[in-house]
This record gives sequence, C-alpha cells and structure tokens, in this order.
Amino acid sequence: MKVLVINSGSSSLKYQLYDMTDESVLAKGLVERIGMDSSILTHKPTGKDEVTEVSEILEHNTAIRKVIDKLTDKTHGVLESVSEINAVGHRVVHGGEFFKESAVVDQQAKKDIRALIDLAPLHNPAAIMGIEASEINMPGVPQVVVFDTAFHQTMPEKAYLYAIPRVLYNKYKVRRYGFHGTSHYYVSRAAADFLGKPLEDLKVITAHIGNGGSLTAVQGGISVDTSMGMTPLEGLMMGTRSGDLDPAIVPYVMNKEELTVSEVNLMLNKHSGLQAISGISSDMREITDGLEKGDPHSTLAFEMYEYRLRKYIGSYAAAMNGVDVLVFTAGVGENSAIVRKAVCENLSYLGVEIDEELNKVRSGDPRRISTPNSKVEVLVVPTNEELVIARDTYQLINK
Ligand code: ADP
Repeated sequence: MKVLVINSGSSSLKYQLYDMTDESVLAKGLVERIGMDSSILTHKPTGKDEVTEVSEILEHNTAIRKVIDKLTDKTHGVLESVSEINAVGHRVVHGGEFFKESAVVDQQAKKDIRALIDLAPLHNPAAIMGIEASEINMPGVPQVVVFDTAFHQTMPEKAYLYAIPRVLYNKYKVRRYGFHGTSHYYVSRAAADFLGKPLEDLKVITAHIGNGGSLTAVQGGISVDTSMGMTPLEGLMMGTRSGDLDPAIVPYVMNKEELTVSEVNLMLNKHSGLQAISGISSDMREITDGLEKGDPHSTLAFEMYEYRLRKYIGSYAAAMNGVDVLVFTAGVGENSAIVRKAVCENLSYLGVEIDEELNKVRSGDPRRISTPNSKVEVLVVPTNEELVIARDTYQLINK
C-alpha cells in the first residue's frame, strides 16, 4: 500500500512517497520555480543519490508528471509503474468551517476548498491545482485532503470569535481558524507517547516555530486555543510576519503612507518580524549569530521574539489553568537551543527548569530537556506533517 503525499504551493510542489506497510519513506523531493523558466526538480530516493533536473515546468500538471517520471525512472525510481500508487494525500492550508477532519476528495470537497479561496488566496488555489493535476496524472486513484485548520475546529467560541460585530462572522466567517494544525496534532500525541501518559489527562502547550510560528493550547488532546487567527499573520513574531499588533496601526499607516490593501498586507506578511527588526535576516540562525557578535539590531530582534513567545506560553498556561508539558517543534523549535533556553529561563514561575546539557543535544527523536525537578515536562519533538497526511489518507481510503 503506497501513498503519495503532496504539498502544493503556488510555485512549488513537495512530495513524499510512503510505503504504509512500515510507514517508510521510499522517496521524496521538491519541484521549485513552477511557472518560471528553469524550474528545478530535486528527487531523493531513499538509500540512493539525490538527483536534480532543470527544465521548464509551466504548471502543476507537468510538475506531477515529472515527479511520476522520476518515481518510475529505471535508475532513480522506486516504483515499476505509477499504478503502484494506491492513494494521494494533499496538504490543504484552509478548511474553514467545512472540514473538521481530513476528507476524501469528491466534487463537494473541491467546491468547498474553492469557496475558501477568499480566506486563503495564496494557498487554496495551489492545493486545487495539485489535486487536479493528480487527477489527470493518476486517474481513478483516490485522493484525500488534510487541512492545517482542521485540528483547531474544536476551539470553543470564546477562543475563536473576535470581539467585533457578530455580523462579520455571520456574513464572512471572520473568526480564528488557526494553522499548523497537523503539526500541533502530531507533536502533542508524540509527546504523550514519549512520556507514556494518556493525552486525555494532559495540558500541553505546543510551540511550532519555523519561518511561520504558532502556539497551541492542547487540553485533553484537543486544541482549545491557538495563536494564529483568521490568517497565519496573527500571534507570534515570525521570520517576516509581524504577529500581533494594534489593529488601529493598519488604517493609520495606510493613511500616512498612502498604502493600498495589498501593499499593507505585503508589509505585514513579508517585510516585518525578525527581518524588519534585525534589518539582517528572517532566519533565526543569522539572528543568533548577530546576537553572539553583539549586533544591537539582532539582539533586539531576538529579545522581542523570545519575549512574545514567552508571553504566549504564559497566556496559554492561564487559558488551561496550568501546563504539564511544553513542546518545541519546527525549524527554530527543534534546532535552536538558545531560543529554548532564553524562553525557559524566564518560565521559572511555572516551575519550568531545563537541563542545559540536554538542551544542547541534537537528535531526530523526541527528547526531554527539562530536569527531573521541573514541574513542567519540556520536550523537543521533531514534527512530521507528511506522516500525518499519509496516515489519514491510508485510514480514509481503507474505511
Ligand atoms: P517553515 O515554517 O518554512 O516550514 P521550518 O520549520 O523548516 O520552516 O523552519 C525554518 C526556520 O528554522 C529557518 O528560517 C531558521 O530560522 C530556523 N532554523 C533552522 N535550523 C536552525 C538552527 N540550527 N538554529 C536556529 N534556527 C534554525
């Protein structure tokens, strides 16, 4: 039973082929610069060398055809024929209120994903392109959609409504949806497994911090609050995104600088966050390099990032009236010992105590970085969103 997982962006397409008998990855890869000249396909069959191919790939249909060519290639392939792919699982960013869980793709599902383009104009059209390109290249193969928002559909009204006229929710579904749900779902479960405790009994805060970042309060296994909102702009300070700010700043700045809606969106999504404050980079590695060299702008960017992250952890401990487990994941969460240390040092009022040596350990497995005395278990859990997509796909088509 083989499942192809596809994460389709507007100009990129990532894939992983799973053998679900043992959940092993047979091959993975990435097509970049779709729609531009010299697109790049990078294909890595497990246990064999990576291959890179530069060609013209104008749309997703060709991208998937090239991926299938590579998967079935005599030298670099891992399949005899495309017919060995039993199902395709797609990552979809926005499932709105339509999707509380993953779903098999049918006409209605596609219609609903299209209806949400308004809420996710950059992401959902790419998902539709990936789905339709798969239908063309793998006719008859069942497809499943897995949503970044679905895990957060359990949030209560008090957490997901904004304190603005209710009519905006009724008419336009303006509310908090939250994102990175697949990752928060995966790491909260992996954390409970690691601790050997039932998730139902735990209050967990999951910190998914990569280029984008969000925090989730997971109580009894379900998401009760999360820091991203109607869009992935709200919440933490991120690589290039502002995170929370006074909403009155937006009309004020638009007025002063005569900015259009798309210009102000661009400013807040692409030219803010670590990038804006450091003036150097959106990449935490460069920020911590700057910090270590004493660069004042990097130092401030780091301090703001850590301060805001820590304030959110405190607010989610308040939301759940306590916290048993704090989980760090994604690019920064899994790799940056200095960010974890700075955050945890200032959580002593919650009884958090981390072991500096354990915090420095590098490993691809879930691990504990807190001391035996710590009142909160602090874990680093590598996320695996693709595996969740593969598992959901496998389960749904075998129902
Ligand atoms: P995305 O949100 O795009 O999925 P990732 O979760 O892969 O991104 O996170 C990417 C970010 O992780 C990079 O921008 C970088 O800031 C950070 N990162 C990766 N490795 C390290 C490291 N060793 N130390 C600090 N930060 C790191």
